Amino acid sequence: MEIIEIKGKPTVKVLDKGYVRMVDTMGDDLTVVNAARVSYDKQKEELDERDERLIRFLAREGHTSPFRHASLQFEIYAPLMVARQWWKYVVGSSHQDNMVAWNESSRRYVTEEPTFYILAPDEWRQAPENSKQGSGDPVDTVDGIEISGKLIRFINEGERLYREALEVGICAEQARLFLPAYGMYVRWYWTSSLQGVAHFLNQRLAHDAQKEIQGYAQAVDVLARKDFPRSLEELVK
Ligand SMILES: Cc1cc2nc3c(=O)[nH]c(=O)nc-3n(C[C@H](O)[C@H](O)[C@H](O)COP(=O)(O)OP(=O)(O)OC[C@H]3O[C@@H](n4cnc5c(N)ncnc54)[C@H](O)[C@@H]3O)c2cc1C
Repeated sequence: MEIIEIKGKPTVKVLDKGYVRMVDTMGDDLTVVNAARVSYDKQKEELDERDERLIRFLAREGHTSPFRHASLQFEIYAPLMVARQWWKYVVGSSHQDNMVAWNESSRRYVTEEPTFYILAPDEWRQAPENSKQGSGDPVDTVDGIEISGKLIRFINEGERLYREALEVGICAEQARLFLPAYGMYVRWYWTSSLQGVAHFLNQRLAHDAQKEIQGYAQAVDVLARKDFPRSLEELVK
């Protein structure tokens, strides 16, 4: 995946209009090692082979607290259905935790034009044979063209009704009920401990995660590995 820059920060594009942008990080692989060695009053300035072995040991034995001294902050632009899945990561990562946060553009205040995830005709997937899997192989292109057209018409109609409601004086926080929500792009900040990021990656890089969030997980993985290559190598299996 190609890393580009948006507003001066490394970013990976996902889906038709989405992205993951790495806003900030606190710490690196050395932070994990130094946190683990604090009981020996040891502080390293550079990672060496012994440190790599220590990271491997910590991850293997489930001594996870040193991985919570590092944190990562991302800006994500994704369809609401992806945000909804992401939002389930609550430990060390979001809305229920006092130390970190989740802030999202809500559309209560009209700040930008509604934007929607519109699949190309060859991106639709069949219903799966195994109900435990979310989806199957791509559908035939002819069906895809028809279904993409229907989605666009549905979105256009929702947007039309939304604007009509605004024009007659309905407040934005209620007028948004007309917008087809699952595919509407939302933007949010996600701050998580390194351990929280690894947990998210383990679940959402997996083959049984929805394809759309898998794409976002791949973007998070590429960006996070810049500062935490050794830790993520051991934590993400
Ligand atoms: C393929 C897939 C399909 C899914 N389908 C659905 C679905 O249909 N419906 C749905 O609602 N969700 C679904 N989920 C979401 C899933 O149930 C989890 O909510 C989500 O994956 C977040 O994981 P988590 O609960 O481990 O994360 P967190 O809540 O962040 O927890 C992280 C870890 O902390 C520990 N922990 C958390 N709370 C406690 C506690 N109270 N006591 C002790 N330890 C704790 C656990 O080890 C946990 O794994 C799905 C997830 C995946 C990956």
